[in-house]
Amino acid sequence: MSKFVSIAIDGPAGAGKSTMARACAKELGYLYVDTGAIYRTVGYYMRLMGVGPKDKDGIARLIDEVNIDIRYEDGVQHMILNGTDVTGEIRTPEMSKYASGVSAQKCVRDFLLDMQRAFARKHNVVMDGRDIGTVVLPKAQVKIFLTASPEERAKRRFEELTEKGEKASYEKVLQDMKQRDKQDSERTIAPLKQAADAVLLDTSDDTVKQSVDAILAIVRRKLG
Ligand code: C5P
Repeated sequence: MSKFVSIAIDGPAGAGKSTMARACAKELGYLYVDTGAIYRTVGYYMRLMGVGPKDKDGIARLIDEVNIDIRYEDGVQHMILNGTDVTGEIRTPEMSKYASGVSAQKCVRDFLLDMQRAFARKHNVVMDGRDIGTVVLPKAQVKIFLTASPEERAKRRFEELTEKGEKASYEKVLQDMKQRDKQDSERTIAPLKQAADAVLLDTSDDTVKQSVDAILAIVRRKLG
């Protein structure tokens, strides 16, 4: 049994996982690991090399060329791909689709599994993703499945993009999000799903502070 504590936060796109997980990690003094960023980085490399997100053979051929380092600067997770910081580049709607495509490939999931588990072996972590409670850290002491209505999640993502100065339409964001959730939930390997022992938290009507407080209350109850 590891001497470190793992908190797994899974859920669909736009449920607020990263915002809540980051805030909880800060409050608890744990390391925050955003696993979606790792899949996005793999997707970014494939895009760079002209390989499509569903090109199974192309992805399998290139996966060994991917070298990912994660660095933390002032608490912010930076993704270093083959020596280059791509933290900003991976946050586009196109990279969301790429990440979802490449993440369905077995060679990609196998490649990233050890990297994710290594964090939990060495640190107290709050890790967010789609399969953390089910596959990556099935023995996590605390598991939370965070969700919200598709409309609320799309609204949040739309506001995020608009704030960044990107042109976006709410309808398109909603449509892309539903498509990505469907793809993530229906894939054969490590699909998005609530672990049997995860606590379900619907944040549709809550402020960020209310959701963070609710998660911290669950953590304190579970850890005693
Ligand atoms: O969380 P984020 O939106 O950054 O994740 C991007 C994509 O990466 C997801 O849509 C999903 O397909 C994939 N992902 C995954 N497993 C994880 C985290 C993310 O398959 N643990």
